[in-house]
Amino acid sequence: MSGPRNHLERILFGETEIRKCIADLGAAITKDYKDKRPLSVVTILQGGALFMADLIREIHLPLKIESISVSSYEGTSSSGTVKFHQNGMPDLNGRHVLILDDILDSGRTLFAIQSRFEGECQPLSIQTCVFLSKQCERAVEIEADYVGFEVGDEFVVGYGLDYNGEYRNLPEIGVLKPEFYEK
Ligand code: 5GP
Ligand code: MG
Repeated sequence: MSGPRNHLERILFGETEIRKCIADLGAAITKDYKDKRPLSVVTILQGGALFMADLIREIHLPLKIESISVSSYEGTSSSGTVKFHQNGMPDLNGRHVLILDDILDSGRTLFAIQSRFEGECQPLSIQTCVFLSKQCERAVEIEADYVGFEVGDEFVVGYGLDYNGEYRNLPEIGVLKPEFYEK
């Protein structure tokens, strides 16, 4: 077997586990949003792309999808500032909004996006859903309303999560072997 999977030292969550987790999240969201209309699901690119694609197929309700592109990571650590790569905001006026991200770490990304949506977009409500929640100290006060898996305080890749732009296409979540980090 060749390819990026060989670059993993450990697999934390495999494809079957991920599928089950997404189905459970989708079922919970479907139940909670049954009477909340209209719904917009907004994913944070690039990391949240795979999560969004799988999760919305497990939410059995009418919904619109949107995306927003930001970055805060450099290599394997948070730069401390959240950069928005677009000027416009999605049209969320009068809508219930569920923000998706791949992983909650310092919390700055979700916090910055949630604050901008609240200040600029007049949504009916905002909730957040992350595939992974890192067990570490948050830099700002935020926790996600829906969490797929908890992970320890280490750098993970796969299922949308990158290292220097690569490994997003791995179907599982894992930790890279030390030799694949740039020196
Ligand atoms: P926060 O703003 O909460 O510190 O970080 C959120 C963003 O940082 C995530 O959307 C993700 O892009 C990136 N990030 C945080 N932890 C990890 C990690 O362990 N692996 C990868 N690949 N990205 C991470
Ligand atoms: Mg991200």
